Amino acid sequence: MKQLQEEILKLKEKENAILLVHNYQRPEVQEVADYLGDSLALCRKAQSETDADIIVFCGVDFMVESAAILSPDKMVLIPDPSSRCPMAAQCPKNTVIEAKRKHPGVPVVLYVNTLAEAKAEADVMCTSSNADTIVRRLGTDKVVFGPDWNLGWHVARQVDSGLELIPIPEHGYCYVHKMFDPTTLHSLKTKYPNAELVVHPECDPEVQKIADHVGSTQQMLEWSKKTSSDVIIVGTEIGLVERMRREIPGKTFIPALNDAICHNMKKITLEKIRDVLVKKNYVCMVPDEIAERARSGIKKMVQLS
Ligand code: SF4
Repeated sequence: MKQLQEEILKLKEKENAILLVHNYQRPEVQEVADYLGDSLALCRKAQSETDADIIVFCGVDFMVESAAILSPDKMVLIPDPSSRCPMAAQCPKNTVIEAKRKHPGVPVVLYVNTLAEAKAEADVMCTSSNADTIVRRLGTDKVVFGPDWNLGWHVARQVDSGLELIPIPEHGYCYVHKMFDPTTLHSLKTKYPNAELVVHPECDPEVQKIADHVGSTQQMLEWSKKTSSDVIIVGTEIGLVERMRREIPGKTFIPALNDAICHNMKKITLEKIRDVLVKKNYVCMVPDEIAERARSGIKKMVQLS
């Protein structure tokens, strides 16, 4: 493994490439990252990184597309093009077009976990860390929101009452965060009475309600560093637990569920990163017209957040 990691570091230097890595990637992939973070942080990095010629994006399809949209002058490579997010697939562009037809004049806010063709139809994007801020700053009492229903519930809870949220699709979800259930979490809290519980807003409302903190992966990490508790139960994909253990060695992190694994994220391996840097065979291409329209929604999100 070490040999492969060294090979990748040398290749990155030779090709003037950077590696952007999502928090849910395998630990050995996280270790070679130039930047490790959540969707928003990686979006910002893709936009601000001016020196690199190549971005290797270790994440799923919609994230790689976002990097390509924000860095049109760079080659954006994905180590495994079959690494796709099933939640993004739940909201094709026609779902957004239909919602606009049904609700004319209502702003459409889409989670970045959507494909470029859907983003191109939306007014503004959001991430799990800024969704409530974006909706609040739009200053409207009604928004079309998708695709994650649970994130929509979280937003409505954070924003002043009276906000009407129209979900698209009706019940979009992330299969990984759907796995957490309140009964298991209550048992864990009984087993570890001094532990605090931190969860992602893609979890069901019943899970969010019993958590001590709800936030994006980046917010979960920051909160875990600051909280006085030494034992933390973590309700998100297992990759973040691995990062927390590595970066906050003084505390104990207990996965709320050992099986909370995003298999799409885990498709990316060190071998595939090495190979894509050598062969440059999986280049993310977003048609110009779609990229331009999607870019405006992403830029609006960055401005508003
Ligand atoms: S964790 Fe859920 S939302 Fe994130 S990439 Fe995997 S399936 Fe998609």
